[in-house]
Amino acid sequence: MKAVYITEFGGIDKLVYGDMPDPQPESNEVIINVKASALNHLDLGVRSGRGRVPGNFPRILGCDMSGEIVGFGKEVSGFKTGDRVLVDNRVKCDKCRYCILGEDQFCSNQMRIGVDLDGGHAEFCVVPAVNVHKISDDIGFEEAAAMPLAFHTAWQCVVVKGDLKPWETILIQAGGSGVGSAAIQIAKRIGAKIITTASTDEKIDQAIRLGAHYGINYTTNPDFSNSVRDMNSGRLVDMILDVVGAAVWQQNLLSLKAGGRLVITGTTSGSSADIDLSLLSGRPLTLMGSGGRTRRSFVDMMEVINRGELHGVVGAVFSLDKVGEAHELMESRKFSGKIVITGS
Ligand SMILES: [Zn+2]
Repeated sequence: MKAVYITEFGGIDKLVYGDMPDPQPESNEVIINVKASALNHLDLGVRSGRGRVPGNFPRILGCDMSGEIVGFGKEVSGFKTGDRVLVDNRVKCDKCRYCILGEDQFCSNQMRIGVDLDGGHAEFCVVPAVNVHKISDDIGFEEAAAMPLAFHTAWQCVVVKGDLKPWETILIQAGGSGVGSAAIQIAKRIGAKIITTASTDEKIDQAIRLGAHYGINYTTNPDFSNSVRDMNSGRLVDMILDVVGAAVWQQNLLSLKAGGRLVITGTTSGSSADIDLSLLSGRPLTLMGSGGRTRRSFVDMMEVINRGELHGVVGAVFSLDKVGEAHELMESRKFSGKIVITGS
């Protein structure tokens, strides 16, 4: 089969488009004919060797994917050939203390499809059946591939960790990003007031269309905490979701009310920041990392997705042999929504 893989870490030139053996399923796995996969910043990290590294080479990249089931192992039930599905890329062991106690977000032996296991930039991919979720007929494969990581991350931040309420106001940083555009839709379903930031007016327009009430261009208005207050009837916000990190750290602290929650799930601008620790006791703020995610929360999220109430935002589409160009676009940051790779 055709696939995009790496045999060593490095630049975009290390991405190989070539032939790999057709994968065969274990007894608990399904084979997916991949129709679409999507890029995440994680993919750039895997290719370059930053962060966690693949256990061995070659490694087929692609953490997000959707497609049709074309075969399965003998212990798999509940699926049939032709089922339209998307994939949760976090593979849990079901054996460790955390998995047994129902806290699989902390699984000691967790592996990720597209990182530790072969991913979706290929004609076919085998994954554990428990990681596969059916999608309704009116969700296209490209949209479906754009959703799993971004929406599960946003769900974790807004619903699980942040516990956003309808009467609250949330500030969502980088509303044009995959996680940001997902978080806007989730916060909209909850009924909260939504203020978002973005680097361009075009991204703000898109965020407004998705459900944000107010948008701030942080390129032209870098000291935006006063604008946040103005947009929230003179009050600071109850909660912030941040994927930006160092560049907005001080403005985050100036925008958050006493007792407010800041959930951090990315630090694309840098991860070092000064903090006056007395803020935590004096105001008192709750600072949280988004952390690992459970199978249960993925299932909860899929219920809402299959009702048609959340939509993947596809920003650009490339064919499988053009994954290098897709990485270039992602590194340029001159895009919004998700970069999607069409299948075989
Ligand atoms: Zn485990």
